[in-house]
Amino acid sequence: MRPSVIRKQLTLALLKPDICANASLPPKVYEAIANRSLTIVKQRDVLWTEAQAGAFYAEHQGKFFYQRLCGYMTSGPFQALILSGPDAIKEWRSLIGPTHPVRARIHQPTTLRSLYGLTDTRNSFHGSDSVETARREIEFFFPTFDPEAYPTSS
Ligand code: UDP
Ligand code: MG
Repeated sequence: MRPSVIRKQLTLALLKPDICANASLPPKVYEAIANRSLTIVKQRDVLWTEAQAGAFYAEHQGKFFYQRLCGYMTSGPFQALILSGPDAIKEWRSLIGPTHPVRARIHQPTTLRSLYGLTDTRNSFHGSDSVETARREIEFFFPTFDPEAYPTSS
């Protein structure tokens, strides 16, 4: 009988500049990722120009926090990760928790944004919000990565 093949889902995670500014924090995040049965498939350090930040966050152009967000994301190096696992998109977003760290502390205190987030803008993490967004965001940071060639597992 043919073994059942499950294609693991991929998502794009960012460890934003505030987390990367403290060298002791990313290892704690990797540990939390491993504990959720998520695997880091690819990882790279990034330093953005204003134009790159604007391109990635185009959907937020015109919102009140847009300039602050782009200023923050160009303030220093950060990390882009491709994560893999069953239901990786939802898993990673539930691990990081609500956008606003203060709300996270009240409603989901064990999430990463609750533990490490500083402000509504400097909230330490990004996670793709859908399959289509994940595909586009992975391509943005890892243009040579071929998700179709990524191994399936039984
Ligand atoms: N953001 C902000 N103020 C807000 C909402 C969002 O500064 O009131 C920033 C924050 O860094 C957030 C990013 O803009 O992570 C993108 O916002 P989105 O609503 O997509 O939240 P996310 O998907 O990151 O939870
Ligand atoms: Mg979002």
